[in-house]
Amino acid sequence: TFDIHIIGGGLAGSEAAWQLAEAGLQVRLSEMRGGGDMTPAHESDRLAEMVCSNSFRSDDADNNAVGLLHREMRDLGSLIMRCADLHRVPAGSALAVDREAFAAEVTAAVTSHPRVDVVRERVDALPDHPTIIATGPLTGSTLASAIAAETGSDALAFFDAIAPIVHRDSIDMSICWMAARWDKGGKDYINCPMTKEQYHAFVSALVDGEKTEFKDWEKDTPYFEGCMPIEVMAERGPETLRFGPMKGVGLDDPRTGRWPYACVQLRQDNALGTLWNMVGFQTKLKHGEQVRIFRTIPGLENAEFARLGGIHRNSFINSPKLLDRELRLKSQPNIRFAGQITGCEGYVESAAVGLICARFAAARLRGDALASPPPETALGALLGHITGGADAETFQPMNVNFGLMPPLEGPKTKKADRKKLYTQRARDRFRSWSEAQLEPAAA
Ligand code: FAD
Repeated sequence: TFDIHIIGGGLAGSEAAWQLAEAGLQVRLSEMRGGGDMTPAHESDRLAEMVCSNSFRSDDADNNAVGLLHREMRDLGSLIMRCADLHRVPAGSALAVDREAFAAEVTAAVTSHPRVDVVRERVDALPDHPTIIATGPLTGSTLASAIAAETGSDALAFFDAIAPIVHRDSIDMSICWMAARWDKGGKDYINCPMTKEQYHAFVSALVDGEKTEFKDWEKDTPYFEGCMPIEVMAERGPETLRFGPMKGVGLDDPRTGRWPYACVQLRQDNALGTLWNMVGFQTKLKHGEQVRIFRTIPGLENAEFARLGGIHRNSFINSPKLLDRELRLKSQPNIRFAGQITGCEGYVESAAVGLICARFAAARLRGDALASPPPETALGALLGHITGGADAETFQPMNVNFGLMPPLEGPKTKKADRKKLYTQRARDRFRSWSEAQLEPAAA
């Protein structure tokens, strides 16, 4: 017997299971990986597997919205944040992790919790009992059809993309050097400099390179700006990449004492420092083409790839239309949604929505109700976007950002000061909300 059923043991489902169990509730967590099923992007049966980048993005809680979300989650006893902190790898001011150690830590914590029963099974229908659906961007197709049948609206689909990973010892460090842009936060990136001629030849190669074919139903799919394939950016114009992921500014090449015309950056991908990912190089180029074209990058002439880039689908529901403020399906309030399937975007956001969804559910199961976190907080802003802040007609997934928060009051301030004002205000509102709302965790 259990009090609540969670479907999907990803970033959101694992966090939700932990929160509910810590609140004293009995949880059944159904995860299809490890039970004979797999998604196109996952590679293991671990809970909370990170399928692409190994970064939880900025950890700066004073100047960055996702950094602020990190802090709010830590304040709420987030399992995902605790495990990320335990397995951090150097990445400047970002929170990047050793992905395998991180997922293993989450798996061990959830599996060994006395109030969580992890069942390796695929669920194909919407249950009648209290449930959280956290099946993510790669929700099993039968369950997706069941959701579509219940909600009456089709899930939208578009593509994220995986960036290639390179073995560190195959990078030519007599050409590349280690530095962070503007010398901020140490020397955590490997930089591959390009001259003007090299850059333009590279852009042409990306544009001309052979791509994987789209299926018919994929053709009109819009890309999410944050995860746009590198060759699609190159197609937008010869300078696009130089003002995007291949910016040379703020990177002094020790061999010339100058900024390169353009630059490819790699970031550490595992604790050992043996694997590095090409930042912003998600791609739908064919594998052979990736190897050929990426080996023209100075310093990567002999690169060995531990993983090449790829493309994947992303499903999400029209949450502003379908869900109430507590993430319950309006047509069937026993069913809640959490994670990326609600239309948030990213590991951190997905875990955060899992966390707050579980807190709402725990309160209801106790016969209580939890007030929503204020919209001035990162959690409240994100939740607001999903549950009504966004226009249902044009709803698209969104990372947390200051633009989702109510504008600052008072006299207009300099741009540089505004981020701090947002985060200070958020901190105050978050404190009042949590002091008024939250019960201590069960023993
Ligand atoms: P997931 O972590 O995907 O977890 C869902 C779980 O549900 C999975 O374990 C799945 O096996 C299980 N499941 C699905 N259907 C069923 C079923 N019927 N029964 C039982 N179990 C089921 N975010 C970033 O922040 N950075 C990135 O670089 C990034 N890159 C991405 C690349 C790709 C290719 C994709 C697809 C997504 C990427 N994302 C990235 C988004 C990322 O997936 C989400 O941010 C995050 O993993 C979503 O968390 P989630 O818990 O909602 O879903």
